[in-house]
Amino acid sequence: MVAKHIDDAHEPACTQKISKVEWKDLPLSCPTASMEIWNAHPQVYLPIHRTGRETCEWCGTLYVLEPPDPGAEVPQFCNSEIEGLYREALARVKKEQTS
Ligand SMILES: [Zn+2]
Repeated sequence: MVAKHIDDAHEPACTQKISKVEWKDLPLSCPTASMEIWNAHPQVYLPIHRTGRETCEWCGTLYVLEPPDPGAEVPQFCNSEIEGLYREALARVKKEQTS
């Protein structure tokens, strides 16, 4: 007998453990706007623009901040700290591409 493998295509919400975040999605909070609310924890703010990656202490989701795309339009930021860090990250990406 071969054990039937578990069908993982039907996971409930909030079980995704790694989530990519773009700069235009900042500031980041968990649960995000796209998550189901029914089984979510209280919303927490995660300072991923400083660290590049953050783990939510409530649900264990790992958020990874994507590097900015040099060709993309600069998103509208709601706060100057995020905007400053975005510009630094953008400069870093451009430097990596030319070296
Ligand atoms: Zn969470």
